[in-house]
Amino acid sequence: MKYIDEFNDPELARRLLDEIRTTATRPWALMEVCGGQTHSIIRHGIDQLLPEQVELIHGPGCPVCVTPLDVIDKALEIAARPEVIFCSFGDMLRVPGTDRDLFRVKGEGGDVRVVYSPLDALELARRNPDRQVVFFAIGFETTAPANAMAVHRARREGLGNFSLLVSHVRVPPAIEAIMTAPACRVQGFLAAGHVCSVMGTAEYPGLADRFGVPIVVTGFEPLDILEGIRRTVRQLELGEHRVENAYPRAVRDDGNPAAVRMIEEVFEVTDRNWRGIGPIPASGWRLSEAFRAYDAEHRFDVAGIRTEEPAECRSGEVLQGLIKPTECAAFGTTCTPRTPLGATMVSSEGACAAYYLYRRMNAPATQGARPAAEEMNPVA
Ligand code: SF4
Repeated sequence: MKYIDEFNDPELARRLLDEIRTTATRPWALMEVCGGQTHSIIRHGIDQLLPEQVELIHGPGCPVCVTPLDVIDKALEIAARPEVIFCSFGDMLRVPGTDRDLFRVKGEGGDVRVVYSPLDALELARRNPDRQVVFFAIGFETTAPANAMAVHRARREGLGNFSLLVSHVRVPPAIEAIMTAPACRVQGFLAAGHVCSVMGTAEYPGLADRFGVPIVVTGFEPLDILEGIRRTVRQLELGEHRVENAYPRAVRDDGNPAAVRMIEEVFEVTDRNWRGIGPIPASGWRLSEAFRAYDAEHRFDVAGIRTEEPAECRSGEVLQGLIKPTECAAFGTTCTPRTPLGATMVSSEGACAAYYLYRRMNAPATQGARPAAEEMNPVA
């Protein structure tokens, strides 16, 4: 723990805060992309310690939150089949689909199991040759290598009863979608350190140049986040827009080349629908042609599912940083972690859950002009 404690040092935190205060002469709006960073910010009260001029906008980097409703409904349909063992990380079990969730399917007799790795699901497939084992492969660039590895091994071992229900998403196209939205107020990004530990930083300079925004690769401990904010504000004050790596203990410029090779061998880039946001071109991965036989959507007939989002849930606006969770009328009343209306209240990385968990019931509203309804979807 010693190493972690050093990144929680209150004296160093005070010094960084002082530097941010003296550097920021104008209002700046920064987006932390990753839901893990959002939780760290709210948990440690970093947003409340910052000077008034520096506003943090929460981004769409929660993998559970952005998994689209139609994929959730496909998961529910597959998990309910008697021949299937459906494996998922625990977060996904309470994410509401159109009319139920995976817990409900489990309660109704579906064989739904929580696993800690796709390799656990692979082991279940080895031990249960007479059952179909499906792993719910969601997430950003961080989870894609292990999922690619699992299906790669399944093919090598000739396991015909293993498949992935894939809903992988990629961060750079999401940044592009956010920046091209008419209502966008983001002036700088704290990029997700874990994503960059896999992919490196090569995808970011083009975005920084095109949109004139600083992008600072940032970690997850309080000092990591304050250092990311300090560097972003300094660039903004100097009129710069570069990519900086403020998380060098985990991120190299070229990322993890072996992990990237595994992703590229098993997946191919595809358009993806983001829950609450809509379609974003080239923003995801699907299994490549060579591995298509391991795609649960192809193995099971789940086309033609009808989906319906609850009308009162504003998670799409939360995920785009257009409102704070407390600006949703359902927050803490009809929507709580026990009775979630949207994935952002369920996920351990969801912004609504962070505000509820850390008792931010009266957080100030999002600054700036409220966008018109037609401006909400950045890619519509
Ligand atoms: S508080 Fe609940 S209903 Fe409101 S945006 Fe968040 S998840 Fe959706």
